[in-house]
Amino acid sequence: MLLNLTILAGDGIGPEVTEQAVLVLQAAADAFGHQIQLQRKPIGGAALTAANDPLPADTVQACLASGAVLLGAVGNPAFDQNPGHLRPEAGLLRLRRELGAYANLRPAVFFPALEDCSPLRPEVVRGTDIMIVRELLGGAYFGQPRSISATSEPGGRVAVNTMRYSEAEIERIARVAFELAMKRRHKVLSVDKANVLECSRLWREVVTRIGKEYPGVKLGHQYVDSAAMLLVQRPTEFDVVLTENMFGDILSDQAGGVVGSLGLLASASIGGPVGLYEPVHGSAPDIAGKGIANPLGAILSGAMLLRHSFHLEAEAACVESAVSTVLSQGARTADLAGKTHSAISTEEMGRRVVEAVRASAGTVTTRTEKTA
Ligand code: NAD
Repeated sequence: MLLNLTILAGDGIGPEVTEQAVLVLQAAADAFGHQIQLQRKPIGGAALTAANDPLPADTVQACLASGAVLLGAVGNPAFDQNPGHLRPEAGLLRLRRELGAYANLRPAVFFPALEDCSPLRPEVVRGTDIMIVRELLGGAYFGQPRSISATSEPGGRVAVNTMRYSEAEIERIARVAFELAMKRRHKVLSVDKANVLECSRLWREVVTRIGKEYPGVKLGHQYVDSAAMLLVQRPTEFDVVLTENMFGDILSDQAGGVVGSLGLLASASIGGPVGLYEPVHGSAPDIAGKGIANPLGAILSGAMLLRHSFHLEAEAACVESAVSTVLSQGARTADLAGKTHSAISTEEMGRRVVEAVRASAGTVTTRTEKTA
């Protein structure tokens, strides 16, 4: 198969982790007899520097013409004082909208080899396997009106954001969550703030209605504040978590902390014509350029790309199992090393995953040959 990809490395550690993800994708493609054709385009701060636009039209066109998009991260403190539409993050929000990517899947899986990395006791975190389904194109991140008033009013300037959801937007994301639950442990927890927000009351009503179409799935509802507490108290009880844009953004970072590091978390943004895959973390300016970032979130996003955009399940599983293998062999970037392991670089972690992919794909070939 020809895998036609657009790579948007972005800012900070984005290029460092994306490079390793591309090498791993190439290794998986070689091992399974696929070809990769890729083009690189600017986004975020890199695009602002080059073209004074965080999402140049050429980048959008390239993404829409490809089979899938792999993104690193956007964000650069140099642009912190820019108006909203000229910040790196505006490029990513626009890209998600251009791609129609309304369903953001954020798995948080605990690797047994990382028991020492979670701040939680092993018996609490062991077995954690959560799929956060975050609505990505609605809520306060996109709602209009939004503004900061220019002139001073009594009490100072006023800032406004609007949380907005339509029934149709809630219905389509709810269906994604229930469909995923059918292939997992048949549980959906819908997270909202229905005791305070109208958006959440509509959310709960619509999710309950859609849930009736899936009698095999157990649906629960939880306020976001209490869900945040339960996520650290009893993470293993969560299966699919269905929630709106901002709550999902916050809870998924928290889930990263629960399983050991934000640097491990991958994501897929799907629902439109072209899928967008990116690690959950940001551009991490505090460690950018040092070669110490954890590339596993980006690499695992590559696995999600193989699965969701190209339906290459064996290839995706091969990459995931390679990550699990290198972790169980003791490979740790600085965020995971703690006091017990010495840290390896971003590049070295990528190299080890590539080797593990080659080794495990070799095993698959041998097994097939023997069977034949
Ligand atoms: P961040 O995720 O970049 O970093 C938070 C902390 O986690 C930092 O201490 C960082 O060093 C660490 N970290 C993150 N990824 C890591 C990795 N792969 N390996 C090791 N450590 C890692 O969040 P932030 O500091 O709040 O934001 C920095 C910039 O990134 C901001 O400009 C923000 O807007 C942007 N951001 C972008 C995205 C995105 O592109 N999807 C997501 C979140 C934040």
